[in-house]
Amino acid sequence: MKKPFVTKGQLDEIVKNHPTPFHIYDEKGIRENARKLQKAFSWNKGFKEYFAVKATPNPYIMKILKEEGCGFDCSSYAELVLSDKVGAKGDEIMFSSNATPDIDFIKAHELNAVINLDDFTHIEVIDKLFGIPETISCRYNPGGEFKTSEKGNVMDTPSDAKYGFTHEQIIESYKVLKEKGAKRFGMHAFLASNTLTNDYYPVLAGIMFKAAVEIKEKTGVSINFINLSGGVGIPYKPDQKPNDIEVIGKKVKEQFEKILVPAGLGDIEIYTELGRYMLAPYGALVSTAIREKHIYKEYIGLDACAANLMRPAMYGSYHHITVSGKENLPCDHKYDVTGGLCENNDKFAIDRMLPKIDIGDYIIIHDTGAHGHSMGYNYNGKLRSAELLLKENGQVEEIRRAETLDDYFATLDFSKL
Ligand SMILES: *Cc1c(COP(=O)(O)O)cnc(C)c1O
Repeated sequence: MKKPFVTKGQLDEIVKNHPTPFHIYDEKGIRENARKLQKAFSWNKGFKEYFAVKATPNPYIMKILKEEGCGFDCSSYAELVLSDKVGAKGDEIMFSSNATPDIDFIKAHELNAVINLDDFTHIEVIDKLFGIPETISCRYNPGGEFKTSEKGNVMDTPSDAKYGFTHEQIIESYKVLKEKGAKRFGMHAFLASNTLTNDYYPVLAGIMFKAAVEIKEKTGVSINFINLSGGVGIPYKPDQKPNDIEVIGKKVKEQFEKILVPAGLGDIEIYTELGRYMLAPYGALVSTAIREKHIYKEYIGLDACAANLMRPAMYGSYHHITVSGKENLPCDHKYDVTGGLCENNDKFAIDRMLPKIDIGDYIIIHDTGAHGHSMGYNYNGKLRSAELLLKENGQVEEIRRAETLDDYFATLDFSKL
């Protein structure tokens, strides 16, 4: 059973100062989880998690993660600025972007961030802009299909993905980068999203470690860090089995000892760029049931909509729902739970069995801590909600205010009408 991290009693207090809808984050859960990750990879001297900022680009959340030893993975100018504001310096920032504008590269260079190139042609681009930095990383796309070892299930098709260098290109790239003066080399790959198998990182690590050995043999370049990027998933559905980060860390270590250590590459630092795994379970979208309707189906209308959480509308994603205070009642009513957008896909749940919902009930939508508020938008003139932090001491802090109509109209000049 999925249990919300806020109770009805807590919500009754919170809404006195912060009307629904809002996203709320659980500081305790975030910190405990970050520590588990650090521990699982503590066998690797240089291990570092670079939190994928796009998942939850809120500086107060980023500050918590920084205190837990994380750096930041950015893919845009704004994310670089956020990381800078949080106080991340130099190699605490990874810049993994694609179709990158010059000004983004320049900003990353100005902050001394580690640049992770998405394409062979970018070598020349940055060489012209500011020269090749001492530390440089390349994103690898091995092509073909990506399978995990045990189940043999196809998880993704790298050859269809727009990211990264081909196998031949990446080998050539390290030669070129070395000639141009680079001294410290990284390799990055991201082949599957939201994986629910302890095998994803170990299989990916195996592929990358072998590539590192080949690169050393063919170019003489010793890779200094390998970035396994994001992709470790979370169980959105209550019957799914969570990943075991301890097991994942151990299995990556096995690959490390089998492939890298014998090749004299045992000093390679392992990095991760997790977003979802770091934050998704520790955020929830809290809304209120404001309308009901009884037509061909039973509907509950919320004060939140897809503008607050796009994943169900965009990918048909499942997000678990709890009716606050009714956790122990039988789920004997079938509802479509909807937002108010003029889009029929604005449904948080379809044919979901839930306890009887009354107008005014708090509807808690789970696992919105990553790729939740951050994907928000303003369709139908809907305003983005506030973000709240449930602190370890039980207090609630507003870490982003809700948008107002003035924010929405800020880019318009009505005086010229
Ligand atoms: C989105 C992204 C991540 C994070 O992915 P999750 O699935 O949230 O772990 C990491 N690295 C890069 C380059 C990304 O684009």
